[in-house]
Amino acid sequence: MSTAVVIENIVKTYQAGLPPAVDGVSLRIEPGELSFLLGPSGCGKTTLLRMVAGFFEPTGGRILFRTPAGERDVTHLPPNKRNTGMVFQSYALWPHMTVAQNVAFGLEIRKVSAAEKDRRVMDALEVVQMAQYAERKPNALSGGQQQRVALARALVIRPDVLLLDEPLSNLDAKLRIELRSEIRRICKSSGITTIYVTHDQKEALSMADQVAIMKAGKLIQCGHPEELYRRPGSRFVAEFLGETNFISGKVVSSDARGCLVHTAFGELRSATKWAGGADVSVSLRPEALRLGTSVAASSALGHSVLQGRVTDRVYLGELAQMSVELKPAANATMSAQAGQSVLKLAVLNPPAVGGTGDAVELAVAPEDVVVVGA
Ligand code: ATP
Repeated sequence: MSTAVVIENIVKTYQAGLPPAVDGVSLRIEPGELSFLLGPSGCGKTTLLRMVAGFFEPTGGRILFRTPAGERDVTHLPPNKRNTGMVFQSYALWPHMTVAQNVAFGLEIRKVSAAEKDRRVMDALEVVQMAQYAERKPNALSGGQQQRVALARALVIRPDVLLLDEPLSNLDAKLRIELRSEIRRICKSSGITTIYVTHDQKEALSMADQVAIMKAGKLIQCGHPEELYRRPGSRFVAEFLGETNFISGKVVSSDARGCLVHTAFGELRSATKWAGGADVSVSLRPEALRLGTSVAASSALGHSVLQGRVTDRVYLGELAQMSVELKPAANATMSAQAGQSVLKLAVLNPPAVGGTGDAVELAVAPEDVVVVGA
């Protein structure tokens, strides 16, 4: 039976007089969901995960494990009474034991019969594709293989909740990418509710059902990866999840379809709903800016057009990275703020136009003009 994790207004203060490491976070993780805690170093994600595991006692708030059969308040339960499985950054395998013995350890202390233990160990090793290494010692395995064993050891006890603390950060870049889809497959096929801590945006975007973004102990925004990337609610989230450009502006009109933002470089139609009269920043992702589209065609599609000149172009084969210095709009009533007149572009399958020095037009669709507040 799959478990929902409900975190209610949880607080952790390590030391009186210091700001809380986790500051009133409320979050719900649905049964079987793979949910990420993501944020810069020191934002409190490990502290939050360890409170769910029971390693740290919260200063305030509640943690509930909820199934259709009922609800358990685990806030003050010791870790061994929660039925959670944990995987750490350092694999923490016992070097003197074989792979099978390492995986079996959690079952021994649970007094599972020998026959069932053997069966469950092999099942768990099959899931992580390590059955053929059952009799090896951990030091005869690669880092990625050791982390698979650590995952099998967490899964074998059939935890209600699986907790992963930066499980890929000790592995090289290629292996990290390979293991992303592997871990997602394992979590989804086992149906175990999983909380995964990382500071790697790409890891979170590529694996998660839900991402909770934290900053200075607080939950800033929570949602599906695509929703967070395409519709960040703040400048912090827009910047933290990938590259973006910001332009300042003022909302001059607003309707059911979104709003119109006046900037020093022209008007931008946005699909974001925002109150008229507000001073705002607009986020434009480098890959959302289309190069060289004719003004007439773009306007007919409801896209906004900016004029500029290419100041730099780096050809990378399938794409080109460009910098475009925007031209102030003739009728602009506001002036450009320092540093915001050059936009970064990522142009897939780059056309011949757009060499350094060329005058270009950039078109952008309303859903790619994201208003994020001042
Ligand atoms: P990282 O990505 O660097 O691991 P994090 O987001 O996981 O960071 P935490 O380890 O949860 O952050 O730390 C949150 C804050 O709490 C930090 O300011 C940290 O210095 C502080 N902190 C963590 N552990 C303790 C402790 N045992 N005693 C006092 N302060 C602590």
